[in-house]
Amino acid sequence: MSKPRLDGKVAIVTGGASGIGEAAARLFASSGATVVIADIQDALGEAVAASAGCAYMRCDVTDEAQVEATVAAVVAAHGRLDVMVSNAGVLLPTGSVMDMDLAELDRVMAVNFRGAAACVKHAARAMVSPPSPGGAIVCTASVASLQGGFGPASYTASKHALLGLVRAAAGELGRHGVRVNCVSPSGVATPMSCALMGVQPEELEAMTVPHNVLRGKVLRAEDVAEAALFLASDQAAFISGHNLVVDGATTAVNPAVL
Ligand code: NAD
Repeated sequence: MSKPRLDGKVAIVTGGASGIGEAAARLFASSGATVVIADIQDALGEAVAASAGCAYMRCDVTDEAQVEATVAAVVAAHGRLDVMVSNAGVLLPTGSVMDMDLAELDRVMAVNFRGAAACVKHAARAMVSPPSPGGAIVCTASVASLQGGFGPASYTASKHALLGLVRAAAGELGRHGVRVNCVSPSGVATPMSCALMGVQPEELEAMTVPHNVLRGKVLRAEDVAEAALFLASDQAAFISGHNLVVDGATTAVNPAVL
């Protein structure tokens, strides 16, 4: 099977200034796509875009008007939108369920769920429109979309909600030729996970992770980007409503037997 390509396709990657989104932006651009990174870290986003051959636009996904304007600007500049990678996300220390800070819960949901919903909504509107109806939406969920225990309850709830959105949107948008899927990684050494664990990326990468049975180490952002590339490409033309788990079998195996 040849490597997936995105030649001629126009893609937006939210949260593309860092971590998994950055890896996806770089891989998509090197796979032939015109890529626009949408993020709130302007200096980082501009630098990544310059080195990856992408464009950068500031877009706070918690503000629906900014998401709508970003999609409109991309369609105006490039004539179409083929791929939306809704990847921007946060993980905040909302505490245990009994101590949950509900204001922080709202902030997590605003980015991870409501922000993704805005991206799905406005990407889908652009994708169903002429001249080239159809497209692929890939959301970055998490193994926390399947199980508790991979972060605070607020994060788990936001990713479960995101998976529900992906499935519902896939059902609605299929008749318009728009596929909607998500990737669900386990831990990746990015600023998000390093901040959670209070370690540097090199320390996290060096850690042994026995339940990641394929490698015994944390995933690389590039592993997740490859999965997103496949789902975004025409090689996944009949795949929609799917949650592609990228976790080295973490959630497939009973940890008690490892
Ligand atoms: P990261 O912190 O490296 O990158 C997240 C990016 O999202 C940052 O560039 C940040 O500026 C951007 N962002 C945050 N809020 C935003 C907003 N309101 N509008 C636009 N951009 C915003 O983290 P990451 O680990 O690369 O996370 C990317 C995605 O992967 C997230 O959805 C996260 O939940 C998910 N994920 C991460 C891991 C992990 O272990 N790192 C595991 C599973 C899933």
